Amino acid sequence: MTVSDKRLQEAIVTLKDSGVRITPQRHAVLEYLLNSMTHPTADEIYKALEGKFPNMSVATVYNNLRVFKDIGLVRELTYGDASSRFDCNTTEHYHVICESCGKIVDFHYPSLDEVESLAEQVTGFDVNNHRMEVYGICSDCQSKNAH
Ligand SMILES: [Zn+2]
Ligand SMILES: [Zn+2]
Repeated sequence: MTVSDKRLQEAIVTLKDSGVRITPQRHAVLEYLLNSMTHPTADEIYKALEGKFPNMSVATVYNNLRVFKDIGLVRELTYGDASSRFDCNTTEHYHVICESCGKIVDFHYPSLDEVESLAEQVTGFDVNNHRMEVYGICSDCQSKNAH
């Protein structure tokens, strides 16, 4: 069993425990999300699956993503425009974003958690969360530009 198979099984258990009915479309959207580490938009998921489910609409994909989000299976990343991206990695991590193609890649930097306690000490706030993004040009775009 691959890692994503295992995560798919776990996600399905979470859906069942939350009383969510697992339709073939819902299963396919979940599988696509778990297999892609690219943080797709609803539109990208729709385009990837429309061949398999000709009756499916972008709205259906959105509704399924909302269901997953409500039970904590995915996170929605909003960037101030209409195209939210969806992330099935719900553990604490950061994103590096390509300014050329928009690709989003995960990375971990646990020591940054210290920022929260530092902010509490300095400001007296009760800190819950922080958000950091790193921007640059991905290796694919770098090699494209080199030609
Ligand atoms: Zn790029
Ligand atoms: Zn991510």
